Amino acid sequence: MGLTSVRMNAESCQRCALAGSRSKVVFGGVDGYRGVRADLMLVGEGPGAEEDAKGIPFVGTAGQSLEALLLESGLERKSAYITNVVKCRPTKDGDGQSRTNRAPEPREIASCWEYLDSQIAIVRPRVIVALGVTAVVRLLGPHAQVGTSRGCGHFHGAIPVVATYHPSPSSLNRRRGRRAMVLDDLALAKSLLDGFSEALP
Ligand code: URA
Repeated sequence: MGLTSVRMNAESCQRCALAGSRSKVVFGGVDGYRGVRADLMLVGEGPGAEEDAKGIPFVGTAGQSLEALLLESGLERKSAYITNVVKCRPTKDGDGQSRTNRAPEPREIASCWEYLDSQIAIVRPRVIVALGVTAVVRLLGPHAQVGTSRGCGHFHGAIPVVATYHPSPSSLNRRRGRRAMVLDDLALAKSLLDGFSEALP
């Protein structure tokens, strides 16, 4: 199955209750391009209000913060494949009107499982960055924590996974030094990517 078919399936998905409250499915992709290849894949938690309205991941305040971090790290948002663990916005009251986002529940993550797996299998990124604990747990296993997973040594299949904190201002401001840690982690992702391109003939 190609990425277009996976996207079409996701866009009509009714596997969990989030289908009833979403405005748009936020499937993700490479900004402005229909092509599927990207060396870098960024995986966030799930869409917020702006993402739900536009159908594009990381376009709200977390997106602005992510973009600034990528720029400082010498990575380009426009050539990265950006997606989330869940493709529909989880809200606290589930009616779609609430302004309060929440983390996705295990059954919602399970419902979306094969969409992310298919995206990874088809896009075949050289490096995946897991942004925040939801993505870290989804990609590294149920007992993974961001703090102890940072640094090298993790893989999804054969693809290196760099674990880092979520780029939203509320996550970065939770502890002093977090922003610097995310920059370190993105520098690691860049060095892995640079290593790959140096290895090419
Ligand atoms: N936070 C996420 O994890 N993903 C988005 O797309 C937006 C905010």
